[in-house]
Amino acid sequence: MHAEFDLIARIRARAATREDVVLGIGDDAALLQAPAGRQLVVATDTLNLGVHFGDDAGAADIGWKALAVNLSDLAAMGAEPAWCTLSLSLPAQDRASLPGFVDGFLDGFLELAAQHGVALVGGDTTRGPLSVCVTAMGFVEPGWALRRDAAQVDDDIWVTGTLGDAAAALALAGVAPYSDHPVNRIGGDPSSDAARLFERLHRPTPRVAAGRSLRGLARAGIDVSDGLLADLGHICAASGVAAQIDADALPVSVALAAACAGDSRRTLQLSGGDDYELCFTAPARQRATIEHALSRAQTPAVVIGQVQALHAHGAPAVRVRLADGSAWTPSRKGYQHFG
Ligand code: ADP
Ligand code: MG
Repeated sequence: MHAEFDLIARIRARAATREDVVLGIGDDAALLQAPAGRQLVVATDTLNLGVHFGDDAGAADIGWKALAVNLSDLAAMGAEPAWCTLSLSLPAQDRASLPGFVDGFLDGFLELAAQHGVALVGGDTTRGPLSVCVTAMGFVEPGWALRRDAAQVDDDIWVTGTLGDAAAALALAGVAPYSDHPVNRIGGDPSSDAARLFERLHRPTPRVAAGRSLRGLARAGIDVSDGLLADLGHICAASGVAAQIDADALPVSVALAAACAGDSRRTLQLSGGDDYELCFTAPARQRATIEHALSRAQTPAVVIGQVQALHAHGAPAVRVRLADGSAWTPSRKGYQHFG
């Protein structure tokens, strides 16, 4: 009996289904019934051992995060998630521990899938260095997707939740390139601020309800995975605009405030990665409506700045203003794989 088929059987036995899955795991391909009159939204993201998580990462956390980063992409489009596929590359060593790893992985993966009513409908299982590739699919009403290229001058710039928490956890853990970052050694018990920062790193919350609630209200949107400056920069580049944000308006968690302050904190909030919050732009007249919609989606969000006309040639698209009106210059841009 092939171990690969054992593993697929394990996955199949636990995967939930939905009415619109005509044929799920088990055939050459899945058969899915998309709703009439809606657009299909598809996102893929890969997590690799040594790049996106370390040897010490828990299997359930890897499973959760592999799906979370994909649902975050759907959320950033304003899409309603429905289905996903899972491509697993698993090392041949420690064969005995592979079922244990897959079971743990599924604990995290399927917990998040159940929260969002997402069905695992297929995938691939191969031998190789530990790597997890997920494709998530969902639906959006035609014309309502939150694209990167739709920001307009004078729009408010919003961000959900808080920024910099995951990057602070990486700094606490001594992971490059964050290891040289000054953070306070904050308590180690499970209710501590440090534990909250690690929770944010290992179990990011995809802002699905928030993304849905912004349809028809927000113009442009992106999820913050590589740092706010980098990701807001993508909106600016795609929309042909610039942005000004106020450093003091950046949302900060209690835990991050305990870990660091001043310029050190600002760097994590602006340039750290792995936040998986939504950054979006909207006309200022929508402010009250958006506040109401997001509170119904139980998602905190604040206005951090405004969209501006393109600055002079060569100037950075995203400017950060300090309380005294002076400009803040980042010491590091967002995380780049081939940078
Ligand atoms: P094939 O050789 O036809 O691609 P596989 O043996 O790769 O078939 O897969 C058999 C079935 O199991 C397919 O329906 C496939 O989608 C599903 N499958 C394989 N690996 C996974 C996985 N990691 N997660 C979910 N479904 C999987
Ligand atoms: Mg296959």
